[in-house]
Amino acid sequence: MTENQSSALEREARREVQAELRQELREESIVAGEKTLDAAVNTNDPEALYEELVRSIRKYHPSDDLSLIRRAFEIARDAHKDQKRKSGEPYIIHPVHVAIILANLELDKESIIAGILHDVVEDTAMTLEELQAIFGDEVALLVDGVTKLTQLSWSKDKMELQAENLRKMFLAMAKDIRVILIKLADRLHNMRTLEYMSGPKQNEKATETMDIYAPLADRLGISKIKIELDDLCLKYLEPLVYEELTENLNIRKEQREAFVETIVAEVKSHMDEAGIQAEVYGRVKHLFSIFRKMVNQGKTLDEIYDIFAIRILVDSVKDCYAALGIIHEMYKPIPGRFKDYIAMPKPNMYQSL
Ligand code: MN
Repeated sequence: MTENQSSALEREARREVQAELRQELREESIVAGEKTLDAAVNTNDPEALYEELVRSIRKYHPSDDLSLIRRAFEIARDAHKDQKRKSGEPYIIHPVHVAIILANLELDKESIIAGILHDVVEDTAMTLEELQAIFGDEVALLVDGVTKLTQLSWSKDKMELQAENLRKMFLAMAKDIRVILIKLADRLHNMRTLEYMSGPKQNEKATETMDIYAPLADRLGISKIKIELDDLCLKYLEPLVYEELTENLNIRKEQREAFVETIVAEVKSHMDEAGIQAEVYGRVKHLFSIFRKMVNQGKTLDEIYDIFAIRILVDSVKDCYAALGIIHEMYKPIPGRFKDYIAMPKPNMYQSL
């Protein structure tokens, strides 16, 4: 490869990463705890939910033929027709919610179809062979992968069980990463609806989510899922803390928003003055990370300074360091708290200052 080609590739890769980051930031609500992947979905009528799914898919795949997705919805709806969720609602709303989460992650059609069908083989009379005949090998493989992750061996003790789960997870991941993404979406919707489960079950699910699923989402770089899982775990494992934090943070909401906006404007004008092309965003830490800080450092909410964060996106590494220079001129850095992830990327290749 010539040098030109490789730097063109690098530029392309960088553009992609930036586009992704921008997308993520756009979707990131300014108030912690309010950020969900499908905040707009507030219906549980199966048809209306299906329409919502179609809207989510159209956003990134406008020309796609959705007839197979419709077919999957009808088959799943009929197969689950005698089942109800713990909330009393028809079971089909669960797989459709899972598919909406997958569509919001902009996954391919096979993943979405498999998301709709993910509990059919496990929970209904339908067989994998029947699904394979209608939807093909790829969808069948995905459904089978998710089904196998769901089947636990109850004879073993807790530790063994968890080791077994992890082993299954790794195997599935090596085969097709989409299996894990569907499983994560499945877990996210189950965590969102955990209030309908019994106390011990809530504890068990939240602990497992914190031990396995949230770190997994983190490592895969799906921060939207990771953050929501974290906050939901906190809600069930530390309900009092959760309540206090949400209440406190809500009281100060307007004040915080105004503060963040002032800082964003200030930073933006300094970047403009220096001639650096930059996009500046403000965000607020999510509940779980505030809580972790309070516990780890023995602080009260008032003593935690970085409930806010400002993100600055620039086009080149050079601008990145230049922007940092400007920030350090504007605000005094705290010794020992600065990390250079450009020179030393994180394990998941995340780079920033
Ligand atoms: Mn499920």
